[in-house]
Amino acid sequence: MKPKVAFFDFACCEGCQLQVANLEEDILGLVNLVDVVEFREVLTGSAPEYDVSFIEGSITRPEDEARLRDIRSRSKVLVSYGACAATGGVNKIKNLWGNIDKVKKEVYDKDAAMPHLETYPTKAVHEVVKVDYFVHGCPITRSEFLKVVKALVFGTTPDIPQYPVCVECKMLGNECMYDKGGVCLGPVTRAGCNAICPSNNVSCEGCRGAVPNPNNNAMHEVLAKYKLSVDDIKRQFTMYALDPEVGK
Ligand code: SF4
Ligand code: SF4
Ligand code: SF4
Repeated sequence: MKPKVAFFDFACCEGCQLQVANLEEDILGLVNLVDVVEFREVLTGSAPEYDVSFIEGSITRPEDEARLRDIRSRSKVLVSYGACAATGGVNKIKNLWGNIDKVKKEVYDKDAAMPHLETYPTKAVHEVVKVDYFVHGCPITRSEFLKVVKALVFGTTPDIPQYPVCVECKMLGNECMYDKGGVCLGPVTRAGCNAICPSNNVSCEGCRGAVPNPNNNAMHEVLAKYKLSVDDIKRQFTMYALDPEVGK
């Protein structure tokens, strides 16, 4: 019997679902491995229980928490996929405003008090329920998603990089963004994207979240070499809710 798999979305742009929906020729490999029983963007239908649930998006409203807890209670394994779910991602920018009423006024103006627009500071999925596995990135990469699915089906632990983007970047022989006058979070961000941004002349903004046990000394050495401080590049940390403390 193939494992029953379901996909759910909360506050997000649904770009990570699209990555799955657009697996192209690999979609056959996926449906050979699993039985997709719920996936709003692709099919109709539902199931009472799931072997694996994939959760996309952030938790931003009280009713989201209740729905997420219900999904968790009916799932053997729960995977948080995409930056919105895994770290809170871009949705956590609003938390920096400090006052949620100010955020609502800015976004909804005179409609801010309408009850269906109720919202609170953004939470990542693991801040509400237990998460078994993560697929990082904004958006996720299709190859890493498939790697995680295969590992879950075959009962192994997905091999997710535990080292920084700089490792991949240097192996590719890229010229460092700092040498080009930019700032880059590669020293403290989890690898696995094949350093796609610096390889295309764009600085890393940390979409895959902080690498475990970040080497703050390496970050300091880079910043000192270019006469910068963590405060100078704080803005870079805000896009994907990376805690600037990881660089301190
Ligand atoms: S992680 Fe990025 S691509 Fe995925 S849903 Fe969130 S904003 Fe969209
Ligand atoms: S700081 Fe950025 S550009 Fe420089 S090596 Fe690391 S990932 Fe590459
Ligand atoms: S280089 Fe950084 S921002 Fe770009 S995809 Fe990789 S982790 Fe995300």
